[in-house]
Amino acid sequence: MDFELPEEIRLLKDTVRKFVDRELIPIEMTSMDGPDLKPDVRAALEAKAKELGLWLLDVPEDFGGQGLKLLAMAVVWEEIARTIALPPRGPGIFGPDVRPLLFQLNPAQKERYLFPLIRGEKKTCFAQTEPDAGADPGSMRTTAVRHGDHYLINGSKRFISFAADADFVQLVAATDRAKGSRGGLSVFLVDKDTPGFKVTRKTLKMMGDVTYELAFEDAKVPVENRVGEEGQGMSLAQSWLAAGRIYQACRGLGVAERCIELAARYAQQRVTFGAPLSERQAVQFMIADSFMEHKLGQTNVYETAWKADHGKLARHDTYTTKVFCTELGFRAADRCLQIHGGIGLTTELPIHKMWKDSRSFMITEGAVEVMRMVLARAIFRMYQ
Ligand SMILES: Cc1cc2nc3c(=O)[nH]c(=O)nc-3n(C[C@H](O)[C@H](O)[C@H](O)COP(=O)(O)OP(=O)(O)OC[C@H]3O[C@@H](n4cnc5c(N)ncnc54)[C@H](O)[C@@H]3O)c2cc1C
Repeated sequence: MDFELPEEIRLLKDTVRKFVDRELIPIEMTSMDGPDLKPDVRAALEAKAKELGLWLLDVPEDFGGQGLKLLAMAVVWEEIARTIALPPRGPGIFGPDVRPLLFQLNPAQKERYLFPLIRGEKKTCFAQTEPDAGADPGSMRTTAVRHGDHYLINGSKRFISFAADADFVQLVAATDRAKGSRGGLSVFLVDKDTPGFKVTRKTLKMMGDVTYELAFEDAKVPVENRVGEEGQGMSLAQSWLAAGRIYQACRGLGVAERCIELAARYAQQRVTFGAPLSERQAVQFMIADSFMEHKLGQTNVYETAWKADHGKLARHDTYTTKVFCTELGFRAADRCLQIHGGIGLTTELPIHKMWKDSRSFMITEGAVEVMRMVLARAIFRMYQ
């Protein structure tokens, strides 16, 4: 059994690590303008990323990308998560964010949506969550009813990232509400200028992220804009869920690693009651616990990503990984904040942002309770 990362992945990790240390951490307190990277900062970082060969990393080679698989992407994601210089969700600086779903489009759909997205000419968002259907998409109320050559879509979505700028929406809607997530959901590509479709309300999250509400009133979408077959929504979704969970787990790892570093340095320099914090057992235990958890989480992420790359993934593997690593990331951020005392609560240090971001990853793309629920079901099946 070999626990070393393959040479090319180790080199990639090293390249991204240096990039984060040299280009991102130094600007992390000033790089953002609200929820977005400042345009000049984005342009400079994207140029640098291209120069380093860090472009379209997980886009398959057939589509002009590098075709990196999940273990390689995991090391990129964990390194990037060591800084708050970039938005924690959506397009980073290594090219457009192309969800694996879009590689499953038919040739005509690829021409209209995928290729312009890869070329940076179009933007997109993904809309599944609704006011009454978040953790449980099967209960969604947005319906798509077929009338000959088109569907009429009615309903609403909420908490949708990047909707205001999107040229098209990857929309999940119910084509058969009775079947719900067991064959009743379908995916559609909805153009922004479709009559009956509107981006309605904007909500600001505590992490600084902005999400939007969408409304559909008899929005007429041609049948050729349906992705795959009717009712295939959840099975198409499986193509990106594994990657999404591993991504979120990597956010936890990156936050934990940075927070261990910040806490360890600060504890050795901050003196209270005549001795540095690093000599207090209470502080030592916090840092040691974060370190141990990070170590275990990292091994687990690499194993899960490797299994995904080799077709050996059991569905519950990604649940374990997502729950364990998002929670360890938040605990490490929380301990780091506690060790820093009042200064940890200021916006002058990155800790407050990592604390909020890592908290959010315990909810998005699968709340940890729901992951545990599905994991428990898998365990019960193992021991019937
Ligand atoms: C910053 C941000 C960006 C987002 N971007 C998008 C996006 O682009 N597209 C999109 O479609 N969605 C997006 N979402 C929505 C996100 O995926 C949902 O918030 C998430 O799925 C949870 O749904 P909910 O908020 O409706 O929570 P609910 O489903 O109402 O659940 C609330 C809480 O109840 C608990 N819970 C739920 N079910 C169970 C259960 N069975 N057992 C035990 N406990 C349970 C969990 O603790 C959960 O956190 C985003 C959310 C945020 C915060």
